[in-house]
Amino acid sequence: MPLHAPDSAHTPWQDWRWQLQYARRGPAVAAHFGRAAPEQLGGFEAGVTPWFLGLCDETGGATGPLGRQVVPDAAELSRAPFELDDPLGEDPHRVAPGLVRKYPDRVLLLVTDTCASYCRYCTRSRWVAQHSEPLGAAQLDAAVDWIAAHPEIHDVLVSGGDPLLLSSRRLGALLDRLAAIPHLHFIRIGTRVPVFLPMRIDDALAHALRPRRVPIYVNVHVNHAAELPDYTRDQLARLADAGVPLGGQAVLLRGVNDDVATLRALFYRMLSCRVRPYYLFHCDPVRGTAHLRTSVDAGLNLMRGLVGHVSGMAVPKYCVDLEGAGKVPLWPDYVEQRSDEALVIRGYDGDVQRYPNKVADDAP
Ligand SMILES: *Cc1c(COP(=O)(O)O)cnc(C)c1O
Repeated sequence: MPLHAPDSAHTPWQDWRWQLQYARRGPAVAAHFGRAAPEQLGGFEAGVTPWFLGLCDETGGATGPLGRQVVPDAAELSRAPFELDDPLGEDPHRVAPGLVRKYPDRVLLLVTDTCASYCRYCTRSRWVAQHSEPLGAAQLDAAVDWIAAHPEIHDVLVSGGDPLLLSSRRLGALLDRLAAIPHLHFIRIGTRVPVFLPMRIDDALAHALRPRRVPIYVNVHVNHAAELPDYTRDQLARLADAGVPLGGQAVLLRGVNDDVATLRALFYRMLSCRVRPYYLFHCDPVRGTAHLRTSVDAGLNLMRGLVGHVSGMAVPKYCVDLEGAGKVPLWPDYVEQRSDEALVIRGYDGDVQRYPNKVADDAP
């Protein structure tokens, strides 16, 4: 039986607290794969649940597409000149405890620094896994009060760390408070728990995430189809059945998903799990992540391999996240020439056509 198969209700395997308690940490992650942990990598904690280690074992180990994401590598010690500790410029954009504002109408609320497992390319590696407490009650009050006092804010993205590691009671209470703010149209949660700890999805969590006056959208971070075996699909279905709309976001990573076939399989698999692809992020220039990054041109070429070739439902927006200036979607250029009269456009399969760039010849 594969290591990750939950065999019966009697094993602790399906107990998410057991999974967290027995997560490999620090040097034990590399040791699981028979590797020596690079000594000097003390800066950013490694940690992987038994569940995800099982998936890594089945997909090529430390150098496979799943293992590469979580197993520390000596390449993390090098640093490209443009790599930063805070590449998104979040720290200067804090407006209240845990609250980051880069857009006029929406904010990011970081509620905990803890994740079920740690991604080596984490954009917040400067502060996650410090094992501090979740945002304390007084700090959370201040963040919620700030949102309530700013009627121009229409949407809160709750992230971290991973908000689904809060207890269901605590998460439900936070969502109750946010949902009561009249100017919010919806709330979203960013999480990788369904991938690293799918057994966390239980009835209490589905209840905590149920729609209130406003719906709670859950965006799941998934980078490879192998991260969504049938067990995980069935766990996600518990959320979808409870009325939680699911979106998917992926990070483009070298040696993980940087080929068209892998991305196609990923986005179709998301759709068969009722997860609608939303963003494909370019890997942020975080310190020590060059071995996992592609060029932006490579990303655009991959998008060209998707657009038109697969269902439009399976095509996310490819984004770079600028330092402090928000996300910018990039799209392959299909326009080869343009004038006031006409555009020359190349279709997805190479067919070139003139397309009118005006309303009508005799338009008033
Ligand atoms: C990503 C992000 C959002 C949400 O952006 P969308 O493009 O609406 O998904 C909001 N605030 C911050 C600071 C973000 O990083």
